[in-house]
Amino acid sequence: MRVVVIGAGIVGSSVAYEAAKAGAEVTVLEAGKIAGGASATSFAWTNATGKRPQPYFALNVAGMRAHLDLAREFGHAPWFHQTGSIEWYSNESDWPAQLDNADQMRDWGYGVEWISKSRLAELEPEIDHSAIQNSPIVYYPEEGWVHPVLYAAWLLRAAKEKWDADIRPFTSVKSIDVRNSVAKAVKTVDGSIYEADAIINCTGSWAAHVLDGVPAIPMASNMGILGFTLPIATTLRRQFHMDDLDVRPDGAGRLVIHKISVDSLVTEMQPLDPAGAEASLLLQAVRKVLPAVQPDDMESIRTIVRPIPGDNLTCSGWVPGFEGYYVAITHSGVSIAPHLGKAVAQEVVGGRLHDSLTDFRPDRFLAAKNGMGQRS
Ligand SMILES: Cc1cc2nc3c(=O)[nH]c(=O)nc-3n(C[C@H](O)[C@H](O)[C@H](O)COP(=O)(O)OP(=O)(O)OC[C@H]3O[C@@H](n4cnc5c(N)ncnc54)[C@H](O)[C@@H]3O)c2cc1C
Repeated sequence: MRVVVIGAGIVGSSVAYEAAKAGAEVTVLEAGKIAGGASATSFAWTNATGKRPQPYFALNVAGMRAHLDLAREFGHAPWFHQTGSIEWYSNESDWPAQLDNADQMRDWGYGVEWISKSRLAELEPEIDHSAIQNSPIVYYPEEGWVHPVLYAAWLLRAAKEKWDADIRPFTSVKSIDVRNSVAKAVKTVDGSIYEADAIINCTGSWAAHVLDGVPAIPMASNMGILGFTLPIATTLRRQFHMDDLDVRPDGAGRLVIHKISVDSLVTEMQPLDPAGAEASLLLQAVRKVLPAVQPDDMESIRTIVRPIPGDNLTCSGWVPGFEGYYVAITHSGVSIAPHLGKAVAQEVVGGRLHDSLTDFRPDRFLAAKNGMGQRS
């Protein structure tokens, strides 16, 4: 079976790896660099906390477990760090919601531990307790983070070496050739044609832009900003989440910083100054928790569009009315990708629907040309 995967972010590389492993002849067409889209500028926290409804929570948990399986499969997974994560809220008014969420997560079988400040000091001695005061502290031991670009590089290299997958970066797809409601081939901007039995769209937020011949996926994408610091002499191992601030190590002493209120300061992708106002807001917030960070420690600051399907949930399945054309688009893609890759490969190459994707079909957005697949 010839499978063409469009897009080589963390989702496309997972799909390509699993489809090749399942026996397909896989070609990956990527417009830019491998994992150069949202996957390169992701906080990349593997988690399911707060994710609702329950099937979406379960999909994220399946992703977290699949990360562990994949790490075992490779024997050595330099992209994966399952360190657990720490959460607290500085405003007392947020504590009831934190408690409700933790109770719900525990009821759904998620690892949740309430820890003391002395335990926190053992785990992360450099976190300044004055930033915590009397806040309750939750530790989620199963969570972690990923280096998505390394992940994609390792999976695509394995797909190429083990199963001869054809990986083509800097190859932009222009259109899908659909004849009699069957997707037959992919045409690239440079005029090349790739015939296929199945075409899988893994273009993330670009799924909102119409590829000629097939419908776009309605997206509710928004902007994200991430700050990357210079190497800092800190022993921080785990990510922490305080109010709307997220911080994690990124290797070699660098930290990645995200703050929801800073995201809303930009409305489109643009270069930002590491000495500019957004960077300064991120650093000020971190310095209250990690005094080792200095006011001029930002090395780079990046903007990116978060790929979010219109109802905030994953969108994965055959597109009704376009036989042979499949889409796999999701937010929380770093958490979900290794599971999504397996589930999509089962559906596309194995021909068997995967129960975990039942609630996430594209037909909720797309009315089929022939009337099939519309939800009542
Ligand atoms: C700031 C931020 C923080 C985030 N934090 C988290 C988090 O903590 N945890 C989590 O799980 N998720 C998080 N996410 C979401 C996660 O990063 C994404 O869901 C995930 O990276 C999506 O991967 P993808 O492969 O679908 O998309 P992308 O990585 O964007 O890959 C899509 C690829 O398709 C290519 N492409 C587009 N059009 C074409 C074309 N016509 N032809 C060929 N190729 C094409 C692009 O070049 C791109 O490389 C975050 C996202 C952002 C932006």
